[in-house]
Amino acid sequence: MIDKIRFGPSGNQKLFYEQGHKHSIEAPMWLHSMGLDAYEFSFGRGFTIKEDTARKIGEEAKKYDVLISCHAPYYINLANPDPLMIEKSFGYFTRGLTLLECFGGRDYVVHIGSCGKLSREEAISNIKTNLKNLLVILKNGDFLKNGKRLCIETMGKPQQIGTYEEIIDLCTMDECLVPTFDFGHINALTGGTLKTYDDYKKILDLAVEKLGERAKSCHIHFSKIEYGDKGEIRHLNYDDTVYGPDFAPLAKALKDLNFTPTVICESKDNMATDSLIMKGIYESV
Ligand SMILES: [Zn+2]
Repeated sequence: MIDKIRFGPSGNQKLFYEQGHKHSIEAPMWLHSMGLDAYEFSFGRGFTIKEDTARKIGEEAKKYDVLISCHAPYYINLANPDPLMIEKSFGYFTRGLTLLECFGGRDYVVHIGSCGKLSREEAISNIKTNLKNLLVILKNGDFLKNGKRLCIETMGKPQQIGTYEEIIDLCTMDECLVPTFDFGHINALTGGTLKTYDDYKKILDLAVEKLGERAKSCHIHFSKIEYGDKGEIRHLNYDDTVYGPDFAPLAKALKDLNFTPTVICESKDNMATDSLIMKGIYESV
């Protein structure tokens, strides 16, 4: 069920409601009817869903073969030197993974931290120490059962920890760590350098070299993103022709290298319909 490439949106597109749907419980059926098979639920601004509701959505997802992932709260920062804040961050993992289990999902997508007043080296060193302690807690508490994974995301702003090299390196720490390659972020951070097949292949090759087979089932976020001198500015829809990146060269590289990722579309408005466009591109390359 899991080892195939999957496509789906983050959250519910307006069209979902315009077509008469009222609640995320109906989302798996709706996505399935469109030909999509992944769905990301965001806890970005906090945990707004009850366990019971997550279970109901999870049952629907199973019925319609839609793989659910969850995005952790944006407040997580494992680089923070304050032990109290680290304890809070750990709580965002245990709570979020409990809900992910209710959803019957696999991937927990995380922004791991940012520099704040620390040097980049200090921030990364803090993240490694805290991540190590966190993994002990999560494993002892059985929060990672049923193949759950922490999918650490590549980020779009310079002060955030999250170049693709940094993320791949962090993921070497444990088998349950897998990159979330947000190619819109990578493109925004580097001022629009993702253009060709080789630009993408270089990243995927490095992941396989350092992480082996599990790199091939990585998590992917894809959307076009406006950027400036300081990286990411805002998410766009796939019809943008100015900023990129383009999905076609990535689709070809994923196919050639036998990757089976979950590809989540984070377009500004058209998350589901753009996801379908991306699926079409993948099938046609
Ligand atoms: Zn994210």
